Amino acid sequence: MRLGVISALAEEQHGLIEDMRASQRHLHGMREYTAGKLWEIDSVCVLSRIGKVAAAMTATTLVEKFGVTHIIFTGVAGSADSGVHVGDIVIAESLVQHDMDARPLFPQFEVPLTGLSRLPSDRQMSQKLAAAARRFLENEEKGKLHRGLIGSGDQFMSDPARLRALKASLPDLLAVEMEGAAVAQVCFELGVPFGVIRTISDNANEDAAVDFMHFVKHVASRYAFNVIKNYCQA
Ligand code: SAH
Repeated sequence: MRLGVISALAEEQHGLIEDMRASQRHLHGMREYTAGKLWEIDSVCVLSRIGKVAAAMTATTLVEKFGVTHIIFTGVAGSADSGVHVGDIVIAESLVQHDMDARPLFPQFEVPLTGLSRLPSDRQMSQKLAAAARRFLENEEKGKLHRGLIGSGDQFMSDPARLRALKASLPDLLAVEMEGAAVAQVCFELGVPFGVIRTISDNANEDAAVDFMHFVKHVASRYAFNVIKNYCQA
């Protein structure tokens, strides 16, 4: 087994790369892939940058060029549900590309020619991520764990009206971000098990940009580092 760990932004993965043992760096396609050991697990860490295409390109390269057999995406997201708060963790059971719309040829959200609008994550990896996240949250003052639907689109969501419209079509949506469902499609098509874990940085409203910036700077890396550590040590 070889684990690929993707985040969009440096702050979401800070500490992990620095902590890798016997690490080797490879530059490819404007990204830096760091291969080594995360605790005892053979791993490759990389920053995808932002958006679905960036994430898809990175996930594909991890599999095809670096031979990873499993992928985890760890990062931050906006809340898409009144029960999900800043500092909570959401683990994807399935992911939807919320800006995919090839109607009338295909139903809204369906990824053309896959027959799927909700791309399921790997059950076993998600269970293990949930256990790792729970162990981390036990020592935090606040923060709850949620499992369910995450939506990805090429859009920073900061307009409550947009989010409301999206929720009308996807009532069980828990969080919105910009990469997870692209990684999900790549992994589905290549037959690679994957999991997505997101810490809530903002409420996808007018304050989202400011909240996001603060959270990413001060909190995000501590979450990611400790959850991945728990995951690798389990
Ligand atoms: N202004 C930032 C851009 C961040 S985009 C910069 O210059 O770096 C936001 C990133 O965090 C994306 O990778 C996305 O996956 C996630 N994210 C957090 N909150 C989000 C929201 N409300 N809507 C969409 N993506 C969000």
